[in-house]
Amino acid sequence: MACSRKPNCHHPSRGFHFKQNSSCSVIAQNIDSIKQRIREICAGCGRNPDEIRLVAVTKTHPEDKILEARQAGLSEFGENRVQELVPKMDRLPSDIVWHMVGTVQTNKIKDMVHRVDWIHSISKIKYLRELEKRASRIDRLIRVLIQVNISDEDQKSGCNVRELPAILEYAADLKHVSVHGLMGMASFTDDRDLVRRQFTALRQYRDEHLSYETDNVQLRELSMGMSGDYDIAIEEGATIIRLGSTIFGTRSSDQ
Ligand SMILES: *Cc1c(COP(=O)(O)O)cnc(C)c1O
Repeated sequence: MACSRKPNCHHPSRGFHFKQNSSCSVIAQNIDSIKQRIREICAGCGRNPDEIRLVAVTKTHPEDKILEARQAGLSEFGENRVQELVPKMDRLPSDIVWHMVGTVQTNKIKDMVHRVDWIHSISKIKYLRELEKRASRIDRLIRVLIQVNISDEDQKSGCNVRELPAILEYAADLKHVSVHGLMGMASFTDDRDLVRRQFTALRQYRDEHLSYETDNVQLRELSMGMSGDYDIAIEEGATIIRLGSTIFGTRSSDQ
């Protein structure tokens, strides 16, 4: 059924088979405004919007919302807990690209390795080792980002930048895990200058480690920026932004 919400709705999902009330849904509108905003931010800093990949972080949100976002054109989704990621990955359509964005534990790697496409939060060699072991058994290739602590807050995970060389050197020889860049989370603060300095730092860490690039270790991607700070992240060079609440609304656990 065509979008009937507004006579002038040009949403790309127009005409798809929606239930009546999800046609041109709030989620589809949010995605449209975010894409428009990304184009504006890119225009303001001379970047090509095609360089920015949007990962929709779906934690706490039910599968019908994910399908709505997919219907509205998104194809990459992320979760921050393995327990929530795995059932969603296993039940939702197989063309979805899945990103694990939350803290990794060695004993959880085996639960997601059969399906996850990207892991953003690798911060230790032992996770690379376990991932290689599990992925080789089923002959899959998992793409990872190395998470670096850019906020100096102990509770935030990520390696210290001084540990990066050893991690990247270890990754060079892996066959079933490839490194594509770095991930960082800024402090939760209203101080936007501080957030900008932290994103700048991640980009500089990337630039300073380019000599560690090999066939299997590439540092092209910078996963940084969430709903509250993705504009700054794009200005500072993000290639992947991870957005939850600005697409799906506030999570009940945040209220
Ligand atoms: C929840 C989460 C996000 C998205 O957060 P929002 O502020 O809702 O956009 C991004 N990255 C990680 C690692 C998360 O856990």
